[in-house]
Amino acid sequence: MDYDVIIVGSGAGGGTAAWQLAKSGKRVLLIERGRLLDNPETVQDEMKMLIDRIAHDDRRIEINNRLAQLYISGIVGGGTSIYGAALLRPSPDDFHPGKHYSKYLPNHLWDWPFDYETLQPYYDQAEDLYHVAGNHKDAAPHIGHRSSPYSQPAPELEPINQKLAQTLTDEGIQPFHLPLGIDWTICLHCPTCPGYGCPNESRASSWKCCIKPAVEHHNLEIWLETEAKKFKSDSSGKIKSLNVKKRPSGEEVEVRANIYIVSCGAIGSPLLLLQSGIKDRSDQLGRNYMYHAGALAVGIFKKPTGAAEKFIKQLGWTDDYFGTRSFDHKLGYVQALPVPGPLSIKAEAPVPIPTSLAKFLYSRSLAFAGAVEDLPMPENRITVGRGGQISLSHRFHSYDIYRARFIFKRLQRFLKKAGAMFVAGATAEKDDLHTAHQVGTCRFGQNAEFSVLDANCRMHGAENLFVIDGSFMPTSLGVGPALTIIANSLRVSNYIIRENL
Ligand SMILES: Cc1cc2nc3c(=O)[nH]c(=O)nc-3n(C[C@H](O)[C@H](O)[C@H](O)COP(=O)(O)OP(=O)(O)OC[C@H]3O[C@@H](n4cnc5c(N)ncnc54)[C@H](O)[C@@H]3O)c2cc1C
Ligand code: SF4
Repeated sequence: MDYDVIIVGSGAGGGTAAWQLAKSGKRVLLIERGRLLDNPETVQDEMKMLIDRIAHDDRRIEINNRLAQLYISGIVGGGTSIYGAALLRPSPDDFHPGKHYSKYLPNHLWDWPFDYETLQPYYDQAEDLYHVAGNHKDAAPHIGHRSSPYSQPAPELEPINQKLAQTLTDEGIQPFHLPLGIDWTICLHCPTCPGYGCPNESRASSWKCCIKPAVEHHNLEIWLETEAKKFKSDSSGKIKSLNVKKRPSGEEVEVRANIYIVSCGAIGSPLLLLQSGIKDRSDQLGRNYMYHAGALAVGIFKKPTGAAEKFIKQLGWTDDYFGTRSFDHKLGYVQALPVPGPLSIKAEAPVPIPTSLAKFLYSRSLAFAGAVEDLPMPENRITVGRGGQISLSHRFHSYDIYRARFIFKRLQRFLKKAGAMFVAGATAEKDDLHTAHQVGTCRFGQNAEFSVLDANCRMHGAENLFVIDGSFMPTSLGVGPALTIIANSLRVSNYIIRENL
């Protein structure tokens, strides 16, 4: 064999596994379709990053019957190279979604094969590996907590956030410091953070925390700008080799290993498996695509908020995670977000506006986003057509939309209380392209009738094939998925090492 393990995709799942497996002494090859984007000026340029979207996967796919490019990362480090690094633990109850959804869905669509406790030690390791800064004693109701301090404390709240925190407290809400994978000793506190690259690697990406050190100190080889095209398997389902294409030259190469790990994201992974003609008894491969319903609300204030000059994404709250006194439905977490820059404000404005007005609005805005755990539905799926055309169909369940509209009103109310003159924004039902939190398309489970992967993320019926990106998740959780993907990747890598596969 050329390698012990071949991993495809270098994001939260793949990059983390590459580190853990190479550190154990295995010879690992990591294959990544994208390139390295590390020019400090380029990665902070709003036109290049948010309008031209040079860091995003460049494949145009047919989404709900129109051709478009999705807002998912397509560079080394995957989503972690442009994410917000808000690394929160979910609620232990997120692993038993039937408590909330059994009315809407059959049991086999939401069942997790283990409890929160199984992942708990890996959450600790994941937080340390991605140097999360936070305050472990913050109240943060309902979600999981660390029992020991984080490796760094969260920095003090900016004055504007101290005021917002007071408004929330007056409303009976317990705001907390968002746990962020940011090295605060070197962070430049830029107003632009999620959606952009980090100019000095303060933000914890799989590239910085896992891949680079594993290439330097362990047995990891990485091929950038190389696209995995097709697995070849024998009649028993065992994978024999992988065909890849070096994108700049077009050269095709066949590589072999004992173990193959697919981690191309919840769209890329089912795509590669479907294109390889891999059999899936459950017919769930590519289905149950989720990316969080929810809402984004932007308040416009009379005076400058500071959001145009510095990093203000510091606050979150989880008091409404399972609904409120008057709204007894599961929702998710809420967090501050950086305000979109002037070019994005202009691009999104319903009517043409001058740059001066866009800059004025930028300086007077504050934004909050609320997540709503969306339901897994088999008809929300990725498929490959006869001519190789990639298609994605997705509609939120009416129950998702109902809850997202509630959270939008709640955010509007809060921003008005905090002094906003008016509040703009929308619920996720209007947007099928911003799919940052995509999960679900290779769900894991105990029963091969209803799941693509077993509880160790090994594909049922393919003894040497694992999938470890966000696609393993049967439900989308009430928090961002990155920490859970990283923790699960550590768990599965440990299994591969322990079993000497
Ligand atoms: C702007 C933004 C902000 C976000 N903020 C947060 C946040 O604050 N908190 C949070 O929890 N989550 C956040 N996320 C989501 C988080 O980044 C993702 O959930 C996570 O990165 C997904 O990990 P993954 O391993 O599933 O896939 P990815 O990280 O998407 O990695 C997949 C990789 O596979 C590569 N690939 C795809 N197909 C192929 C192929 N055929 N051959 C070779 N390589 C291939 C891709 O180029 C990519 O690098 C954010 C995402 C974005 C885009
Ligand atoms: S705010 Fe800090 S972590 Fe974010 S992009 Fe700037 S330097 Fe990097």
